[in-house]
Amino acid sequence: MRLVLVGPPGAGKGTQATLLAAHYKIPHISTGDIFRANLKSGTELGLQAKSYMDKGELVPDSVTNAMVKDRLTHADTESGFLLDGFPRNVAQAEVLRAFLGERSRPLDAVVEFAIDNGEIIKRLSSRRTCKSCGKIFAGNLDKCDSCGGDLYQRDDDREEVIARRLEVYAEQTAPIVSFYRTEGLLITISALGAVSSITESALRALSSKVN
Ligand code: AMP
Repeated sequence: MRLVLVGPPGAGKGTQATLLAAHYKIPHISTGDIFRANLKSGTELGLQAKSYMDKGELVPDSVTNAMVKDRLTHADTESGFLLDGFPRNVAQAEVLRAFLGERSRPLDAVVEFAIDNGEIIKRLSSRRTCKSCGKIFAGNLDKCDSCGGDLYQRDDDREEVIARRLEVYAEQTAPIVSFYRTEGLLITISALGAVSSITESALRALSSKVN
């Protein structure tokens, strides 16, 4: 299964990505997580990405595309993959289509998580992330219930950065929804409701689409 998840920040993409990747036994490839891991370990890639991430802007395509192409050549992607946070604009979507097309491994489906801006702002400003395992929590908690790690608020979950990330989504990322609709790959799921029922809706829609 080769999947892309699309949705504005705060739609629950990361949470659903983890669950769907585990269900299909495919690697979960989150470009945001790769950038954050590089930032934490102080690599050149992390340094290149930092100023853009701090402002809620997209990291340049040249950097991001090279990173994703490299990741997609790892052996664990042979049985499929789930991309979370990539592509983020039409140019990236075209690069991905060409890259997979050359390898005769086209995407099977693209899942869009739909949610309105008011709900996003509410969710993101109370979102906390585990420093150790990356698990995401809603609300002002301070310890992770899975690994006991400390929870923190991502720098780019501050209110002023959230506003810019939403603008960037509307201007640059939302157009890929029409791109994938035209390709016949798009599935749209409401991002409201319990985590488990959103996962079930996605799995149901994917099974009818892919089989
Ligand atoms: P995320 O964790 O997906 O919300 O990504 C966090 C930040 O990483 C974004 O606000 C961007 O600065 C950067 N980023 C993640 N994915 C991409 C991408 N596909 N293209 C450009 N920048 C990205």
